[in-house]
Parts: sequence; structure tokens; C-alpha cells
Amino acid sequence: MVRKKAYIKAESCVACGVCRLQCPRQAISIYKGCYAIVDETLCVGCRLCAKACPANVIEVKERDVING
Ligand code: SF4
Ligand code: SF4
Repeated sequence: MVRKKAYIKAESCVACGVCRLQCPRQAISIYKGCYAIVDETLCVGCRLCAKACPANVIEVKERDVING
């Protein structure tokens, strides 16, 4: 099935953590303090992280997923 999921361009992320605080599903973590990553099993594609990112490096795209 197709679901919307957040995708973070890690190379452009400044690891500010704003997206992590916005996410209602706790789907985002900051990997080794370097860049944000999304747990696609938790993400519901709400775009709150993308709207909040000061670096504008989050896109919400349709993905084929097996569950959820
Ligand atoms: S799109 Fe919504 S649920 Fe998914 S990571 Fe961003 S804030 Fe969290
Ligand atoms: S808000 Fe944007 S720049 Fe900040 S950690 Fe999240 S993806 Fe990276």
C-alpha cells in the first residue's frame, strides 16, 4: 500500500532537533548528534516536521510500504 512518509536529506540537516520536538509520533531521532532520521514504521506523514524545519530539508513523499 502507499503511505506518505517523511524523508530527511541528511547531508543538509543541521541536527537542530526542531523536527523531533514537533513530531506527534516520536518518529524522529538525531543519529549520533549528526542528522535526523525517521522511523517509517511510526511516521504518519502529517508534515509537521517539514513545516517546522528551519533548513527546509524534509520532504513528505508517497512510499510503498508493507505495513502501515
Ligand atoms: S511527517 Fe509527521 S509523523 Fe512523520 S516524522 Fe514528520 S512530524 Fe513525525
Ligand atoms: S528540523 Fe531540519 S535541520 Fe533540524 S534536525 Fe530536523 S531535519 Fe535537521
